[in-house]
Amino acid sequence: ATPTALMAASGRGAQLGIFLKGYQALESTREVDTVVLDKTGTVTTGGMSLTDVRCVSDFPRERALRLAGAVEHASEHAVAAAVAAAARAESAGEAESLPTVEGFVNEPGLGARGEVEGHRVLVGRTKLFTDREVPVPEELDRKRSEWESAGRTTVLVGCDGVAVAVLALSDRVKPSAEAAVRELSRLGMSTVLLTGDNEATARSVAAEVGIDEVVAGVLPGEKVAEIERLRERGRRVAMVGDGVNDAPALATAELGLAVGAGTDVAISAADLILVRDDLAAVPDAIKLSRRTLGTIR
Ligand code: ADP
Ligand code: MG
Repeated sequence: ATPTALMAASGRGAQLGIFLKGYQALESTREVDTVVLDKTGTVTTGGMSLTDVRCVSDFPRERALRLAGAVEHASEHAVAAAVAAAARAESAGEAESLPTVEGFVNEPGLGARGEVEGHRVLVGRTKLFTDREVPVPEELDRKRSEWESAGRTTVLVGCDGVAVAVLALSDRVKPSAEAAVRELSRLGMSTVLLTGDNEATARSVAAEVGIDEVVAGVLPGEKVAEIERLRERGRRVAMVGDGVNDAPALATAELGLAVGAGTDVAISAADLILVRDDLAAVPDAIKLSRRTLGTIR
């Protein structure tokens, strides 16, 4: 393409809310045949809300939420924001009423931990508990899988070396997701949902929007390995993500697309920035590059 055509594409892209980081991005976009989408905050809104809480018999719900909320208040994950908001809402309505956390540790793709009111509090997915050899009572584990089968994201809460509660959260797919995925298929792309969340929840989201394949339960580093695996099979991969945990995968893909508000880390790892929080920008970017580089199909 001529420099003029590329300049025009940048201008047209800007109007569509698509920012190209260099002309190479435009070339790579044209080559893509596989679009890998992160789930939370990319296909879903990431504006999660708490739907259910189950505690072991001697543990009050309000206390489980308060301890979990205090730890999650210090974390930036969508799951964490929802837990902290629910804890604040239930603690007599005072905005400042969550206790402080000491020794906060973020466990990327797993959860977080810290000390609250003198207790060791652990919040996150099952793998975090098994890795740290923190037992999960049978009754909580049963609720967890029941809620996951219903498409919920679940979070375990541990206190002083044992799980005491399980929380269920719901998220909504973005209104633009289904049409965007359909448009990607029409453009000949195959689609993959790549997520650290559980398999059952990931499958229900994929089915809702028509995504072809699901890779679930992966850690942030495994997202990179999954992209590499696809590339080794000869696929030309675009990765679409928003979060801190997606930055290495965005950088590994042929083409990294950061969506919506995104995080600074994701934005710096990406080749294309999609300013709209609207997934239609993904097929728009592909069409823009094909049109500019003269391969409209
Ligand atoms: P995704 O790929 O869907 O964006 P992540 O890889 O960021 O998800 O996280 C994977 C899973 O780990 C989440 O679905 C959640 O169960 C758990 N998790 C991650 N961070 C936290 C946190 N701060 N608190 C609780 N759970 C968390
Ligand atoms: Mg995410």
